[in-house]
Amino acid sequence: MIDKIVESYIGLGSNQGDSISIIDKAISDLFLIFGSNSIKSKLYISAPVQADGPNFINAVVKIFTQKTPLELLGILQDLEKKYGRKRIYKNSPRTLDLDILLYDHKVIYSKILTIPHPRMKDRAFVLKPITDIDSHIEIPYYGNAQELLNNIRDQYIKEIDE
Ligand code: AMP
Repeated sequence: MIDKIVESYIGLGSNQGDSISIIDKAISDLFLIFGSNSIKSKLYISAPVQADGPNFINAVVKIFTQKTPLELLGILQDLEKKYGRKRIYKNSPRTLDLDILLYDHKVIYSKILTIPHPRMKDRAFVLKPITDIDSHIEIPYYGNAQELLNNIRDQYIKEIDE
């Protein structure tokens, strides 16, 4: 626990099982855990990038928390387990993948955590939903999310009408 409330952005992805329902439920769980002032993006369908299997359903949720990054990671890993994620092999299809994208505008490098999430700068399925929540958001170290998104080519991503 830390002595102030900070903002963090969580990335959600699923490409196994009933992915839309899993992402919807996981978003509800995040709102229950971190408060109803959390903010969610739209849902998107995207082609896998450096991963196997069917298309992904993706979303991003902005939360407010007093948890440390490691405490937050523990909560997210418990949620992944709740939805039955099994680590069969690296980048195998997953029922629910949760990543800490951003935490309190900080850059964190440790054995366990890298924040901002190292691959988010090249991934439309992260940058698009993040800019839904904050169109001017700056990614520490990497720059403006909308500009990074404008430079990405050839990644299939489409908004889902729910
Ligand atoms: P993955 O296969 O993507 O679920 O990898 C999970 C592992 O990535 C976790 O056990 C973390 O130690 C590590 N990791 C490093 N940086 C992050 C981050 N920003 N968010 C979530 N997991 C991270």
